[in-house]
Amino acid sequence: RLIAPAAQSVAEEQIERALRPKNLSEYVGQEKARGQLGIFIEAARKRRESLDHVLLFGPPGLGKTTLAHIIAREMGVNMRHTSGPVLERAGDLAALLTNLEPNDVLFIDEIHRLSPVVEEILYPALEDFQLDIMIGEGPAARSVKLDLPPFTLVGATTRAGMLTNPLRDRFGIVARLEFYTPEELSRIVARSAHLLEMTIVDDGAFEIARRSRGTPRIANRLLRRVRDYAEVRADGIVSRSVADAALVMLDVDSAGLDVMDRKLLAAVLEKFDGGPVGLDNLAAAIGEERDTIEDVLEPYLIQQGYLQRTPRGRMATAMAYRHFGLAAPGKTAA
Ligand code: ADP
Repeated sequence: RLIAPAAQSVAEEQIERALRPKNLSEYVGQEKARGQLGIFIEAARKRRESLDHVLLFGPPGLGKTTLAHIIAREMGVNMRHTSGPVLERAGDLAALLTNLEPNDVLFIDEIHRLSPVVEEILYPALEDFQLDIMIGEGPAARSVKLDLPPFTLVGATTRAGMLTNPLRDRFGIVARLEFYTPEELSRIVARSAHLLEMTIVDDGAFEIARRSRGTPRIANRLLRRVRDYAEVRADGIVSRSVADAALVMLDVDSAGLDVMDRKLLAAVLEKFDGGPVGLDNLAAAIGEERDTIEDVLEPYLIQQGYLQRTPRGRMATAMAYRHFGLAAPGKTAA
C-alpha cells in the first residue's frame, strides 16, 4: 500500500525526509494546530522553558513526524525519535531520558502501543522530570530516583481514543491533524515538484492533489510515480492529462479511491448487502487487518461520505452505491 511506512524502502525514506518542510511557515495547512503551536513555542522560548508536552493524533501520513521535527527546530533543541513498540523495558526509556539535554524533544511515535511498565515510569518523568526505577533483582533490588532535565514529549498516535486516560491527561497541548484539502495538497505537490526539479503545470499538480486521499505522504508518492510516467511517455512534463493517465495506470480512480478503498466498499455493498457489517467480518472478507481498516481505510471513506459508522456496524451510503453505478435501496444511509 502507498501509505504503509513499513513497506518503505531506504531510498523512499530519504526522499520523504528531503521533502519535509523545515519550519512552521513552510508547513502547509493544519491552521489550527499550526496557530496554537506557533504561540506556545514562542512563549516557551521567551521564558527559556521547555515546551509543554504535545500529543498529535490523526491518520498516517498527515504530518505528525514532520511537525515533531519542526517543533524541535523552532525551539532550537535536538529531537530524539523512538516508537511505542520499540520501548520494551523500563530501561530502554530510562536510557533515552537520561541522555536528553535541557528542553530537548523526545518524539514517541505510536505512543498508544507503549507497554504498561514503560508507561508507568513515564508518568513521573512527564510530571516532575523525575525517574523512578528499580535496579537489580530479588533482595538486592533497590529503587533509584534520578532528576531529569526538563524536556518536551511529543507523542503521535493514529487514534487518541486508544491512549489510557492518565497518559492523555499529561499532555498540555493536544492537536488533531485533519485531512488536507485538494488546494492545500496542490501546494505541497508543487513544492515537492520544485524540490525534485520537475516540470509540472498547475492542473497537473491539482489532479494529483485531488486524488491523494487528503494525505501529503500519498501525494508525494504519487507525484514521483507520475514523474516516471511523464519521463517515459511525455517528455517529463506533468500536465493534467499525463497525471490522469499515470494515476489510472496506478489504479487510482477518478474519485481518488485506490484498490483497497474500492475493495472495502465493494465488500460492504456486495457481500453484506450495504451493511451494517461488523469490523471483524469486514476484515475477514477483504483479508485486511482490523487496525488497517480503522486507522487507514475508514477515516478517509467516512470523511468523504462513502461509509458510515453506526452502532450496528459499517454501512455504505448512497454515494457509495453511486460510485459503483448501483441503484441505492430505499433504506440506505444518506
Ligand atoms: P506521519 O508522521 O503523520 O505519518 P509524516 O510527518 O511522516 O506523517 O509526513 C509524511 C510526508 O508528508 C513527509 O515526508 C512530508 O514531506 C509530507 N508532509 C506532511 N505534512 C506536510 C505539510 N503540512 N506540508 C508539507 N508537507 C507535508
